[in-house]
Amino acid sequence: MESLKPKIAIIGAGNVGSTFAFSLMISGLAREIVLIDKNEILANGECMDLNHGLSLAHPTKIYAAGFAGCKDADIVVITAGANQKPGQTRTDLTINNVSIFKDIIPNISKYAGNAILLVVTNPVDILTYVTLKLSGLSPDRVIGSGTVLDTARFKYTISEFCQVDPGNIHAYIIGEHGDTELPVWSNATIGGIAIEKYCSEYLKPVDIKNTLSELFDNVKNAAYKIIQAKGATNYSIALTLVKITRSILRNENSILPVSTLITDYYGINDVCLSIPSIVNSSGVTKYLRLELSDQEQILLKHSATTLREILDTLHI
Ligand code: NAD
Repeated sequence: MESLKPKIAIIGAGNVGSTFAFSLMISGLAREIVLIDKNEILANGECMDLNHGLSLAHPTKIYAAGFAGCKDADIVVITAGANQKPGQTRTDLTINNVSIFKDIIPNISKYAGNAILLVVTNPVDILTYVTLKLSGLSPDRVIGSGTVLDTARFKYTISEFCQVDPGNIHAYIIGEHGDTELPVWSNATIGGIAIEKYCSEYLKPVDIKNTLSELFDNVKNAAYKIIQAKGATNYSIALTLVKITRSILRNENSILPVSTLITDYYGINDVCLSIPSIVNSSGVTKYLRLELSDQEQILLKHSATTLREILDTLHI
């Protein structure tokens, strides 16, 4: 049967995959959504529940399937894999999820050779690189959700502190989605004014350097806190994925800090990490050459080196 367009395939119907499916259904962006999970009972149950709300949302065909369900997908969003368990090292998580991707990616390529692949599973930068290599796709068509979520958290945190609509804040988290990520304070603005200047002119006197550093720490530790409280993060990552999906399907040219293959950027090569990038119907068309401070350059290079060292152990 002919697929309905646009079609989105979601691999992994767990917390992230199913909440994304729900958000996507509400957004009305997709005409067809397929959920693929090795736990078929789970995928079928999620689809039943979603379908029961359809008359209250937008006409969408939603169903569970095997990997053949990826056929004709415009975007395949990969959320399958494990979360970091208490006591599990990042290395163990990486080995586990890389082995899942070695199984998944050839199956996706078999049925959806032309799709844009959007990787969400952690460690997302490593798995974006692994997906790029295993799929053989060009770098513009393999995207990691990267630090789009961290950047959304960053804008929210700054907005709370400064009492300004987050939409009026331009500030990015770049690098690895994880422990070595960094805030680009040197380029952060509120209503067009540099953030430090804004704080000193419009807020009551504070120790700006320390305050900004605390704001960033809150962002960096947010996922740990949420996971400790409720076991997983799902709502904000789902909206992050809707935002990226919208920019692709509607060719919006949004600037988003997605994870993408980096070449010759402050001396960084051959790793996937996040830099503000133009996202449209071709995928990631370019990443922006930010003017980073000396300290930010050092931190970004450290982030890249950390990722490169992990990739070197994987022999992909
Ligand atoms: P979850 O355990 O709830 O769901 C994962 C699903 O993947 C499960 O339903 C499981 O059955 C399925 N799965 C595992 N192996 C599979 C395979 N070979 N084929 C098909 N399905 C398979 O986990 P979650 O909370 O949804 O998180 C999923 C991933 O997303 C984790 O790695 C998590 O760390 C990551 N995550 C990333 C971000 C981000 O910003 N990049 C944010 C939140 C979560």
